[in-house]
Amino acid sequence: FSRRDFIKISSLFLAGSAALSTLPSGIVSGLGSNPMNGKGEKIVYSFCEHCFWRCGVAVHVSDGRVTKITGSEYHPLSNGKLCPRGTGGTGLLYDPDRLAHPLIRERKGGKQYYRKATWDEAITAVAGGLYKIHEQHGPSAIAMLHHGFGVSFFKKMFSEIGVNKIAKPSYDLCCGPARQATVLTYGYPSDTPEGFDIMNSKYMLFFGTHFGENMHNTAVQEISEGIRRGAKIVVFDPRFSTLAGKAEHWLPIKPATDIAMMQALMNVLISENLYDKEFVEQHTVGFAELWEEVKEMTPEKAATITDISADSIRTVAREFAFHAPAAFVHTGRRTNWYGDAMQRIRAIQILNALVGNFKMPGGVVAFEKYPLPQPPPAHEHPAYEKEVHSKYPFFPKDEPSNTIASHEIVQQAITGEVKALFIYGVNLPETMTLGRQTALEALQKVDFSVAVDVLPAEVTGYVDVVLPECTYLERYDDLDNGRAFRTPFVALRQPAVAPMFESKPGNEIARMITDKWGIHGVFAPTVEAGLDKKLKLAGSSLEEIKKRGVLVMPATDLYRKPGEPLNLNTPSGKVELASAQLKAGGFDAVPKYTKHPEAPAGYYRMLTGRKPMLTFGRTANNRFLGDLATAQENEVWVNTTVASKHQLSHGEYVHLKNQAGIVSEFPIKVKVTQRIRTDAVYMVHGFGHNAKELKWAYKRGASHNQLISKTDIDPAMGAVGFQNNFVTFVKEI
Ligand code: SF4
Repeated sequence: FSRRDFIKISSLFLAGSAALSTLPSGIVSGLGSNPMNGKGEKIVYSFCEHCFWRCGVAVHVSDGRVTKITGSEYHPLSNGKLCPRGTGGTGLLYDPDRLAHPLIRERKGGKQYYRKATWDEAITAVAGGLYKIHEQHGPSAIAMLHHGFGVSFFKKMFSEIGVNKIAKPSYDLCCGPARQATVLTYGYPSDTPEGFDIMNSKYMLFFGTHFGENMHNTAVQEISEGIRRGAKIVVFDPRFSTLAGKAEHWLPIKPATDIAMMQALMNVLISENLYDKEFVEQHTVGFAELWEEVKEMTPEKAATITDISADSIRTVAREFAFHAPAAFVHTGRRTNWYGDAMQRIRAIQILNALVGNFKMPGGVVAFEKYPLPQPPPAHEHPAYEKEVHSKYPFFPKDEPSNTIASHEIVQQAITGEVKALFIYGVNLPETMTLGRQTALEALQKVDFSVAVDVLPAEVTGYVDVVLPECTYLERYDDLDNGRAFRTPFVALRQPAVAPMFESKPGNEIARMITDKWGIHGVFAPTVEAGLDKKLKLAGSSLEEIKKRGVLVMPATDLYRKPGEPLNLNTPSGKVELASAQLKAGGFDAVPKYTKHPEAPAGYYRMLTGRKPMLTFGRTANNRFLGDLATAQENEVWVNTTVASKHQLSHGEYVHLKNQAGIVSEFPIKVKVTQRIRTDAVYMVHGFGHNAKELKWAYKRGASHNQLISKTDIDPAMGAVGFQNNFVTFVKEI
């Protein structure tokens, strides 16, 4: 790349392992209300940032150092326990590779390099760069990509100048299809945690959902408890996952045929009169249209499509109906597979509705949020149109933090419509949005770019200014009040130790930028004062919430009463088996099965997932987690028959080549197994980093993202499907 070379950030500008011995040891002032335990440790209650679940943590601090992180007994989403990643937060805090100083890209004699900058220099560059683009091209030439809870301050910062092109890749890569499918079917968005009464369920059906590998703390706790209670698990998955290992039935479905399977299950429920007639008659619309669509998809027909026998399909449908309403099909996470994800999740929610499990013990439930009053804005900023930028008709119109799909921003950066990228916590080259090559092209094309990050991830080598944020253990963030669980809650993130090196919290960085723009009073005088003001409106205070890190209300009534109308927020007020909204938009009112591309000869569908120790960029370089034996690198799972055909042996390293001829930069270890079908291979995402500054993560395994060159965008709501990529094996390159 000639215009913006990738810059290897010199270790001079990173923390450096030697710095570990000279860590600043001061505990942040004002933590007097944090309790002490019997061992002389201060316990700071906060919440985790290693994934979107945001469990409550108890951070143990001794002599100014975090010694351990355990699950908060007070927070409903941790329930006293954490997943492995949550306990490994110290691995991020004390990562010797952390960004230590602001960096500014310089060009001299045809060479590009980063120079260490003062905060004032870096903020002047960021404020000036964004101002210039805004002046010349208007607010829609600036876009923000974000991942992580700390972004709220930057959203507020951008709202001051009318920048409203904001995307979270997690929408188009993970939760978006389930969110929108649930809006269209039940009239409310599915949330985190997803609304299933796992605790009381007797029969749980999963399609390719990897609980146990992808750790969603409370859900995994409840599923484990369910298994102990004797609840049955059914897993449709081309691979024998950890969850499949706990299942009553593992059904190795042919990839890309799930909607056919779901239609066949509906066919059995209806044709054998196993569905809940009373619920369907009273609370749903579109039953006739649904039957019209699924009546031809008999188990025999579905068997030829899905490779699952008609008998097995009938068995599962009958068992599901037998255990209902204490039974559900889970909507899952990272749902974007083949470009029709929203319709696939609609099919799941229709299956749920047919057995009448809505708001019933063990079925689909809607959690209530903590009613925290919002203070009036302290600062009047110019009114800008609250525009939704996405071109997809069923993209959410009510999320200011997500006004456009992230791949639309990437594409607009390539076409020149977006001229400045502000990237918060997203390692764009390794984020699946449109694959690595497209991400790099976008980073090359924009006139100005900024990354706010903790680690020298790949993205930090491509931007103009790098701003080092401190970790979640060193800062306040906004209150976590947007979500709900069995008990409504509001949670606090608070610093356990002072920011290390020259890193700063996001709230301070955003304030410095608005100050530089000459816009004052956007934020409360201090972050503590802002939090305290909000909490006082709810009859609490910052001092109070610090003691446990969370305010919890009594559990809400999750279940419906017999005969009670549902009054759902859908056009009909009922559960929509057939969606008039989709029909009016030119889409299928009832999910249809369509055939997806097959692998070329000698190639295999590339499936992906997670490891319990490492997920997301934030854990990529975490030595504490990575050194656990099973997580050192990713492997490619290859069926025994396929391995023999390609003369591959267990433990051998190969490169992978995709259907477009892209060959993985680094080799990957072969795992020969019978636990995967012969038409697919499987690898964990998040490995194969090529940023040398991530000293632990560098060159471990192969990058899944590098091998994505084909994406199938959901035309209704913009999710990116990328499981229509296929790979083969290359022994030498
Ligand atoms: Fe942290 Fe694990 Fe909870 Fe995610 S599930 S928030 S990583 S403890």
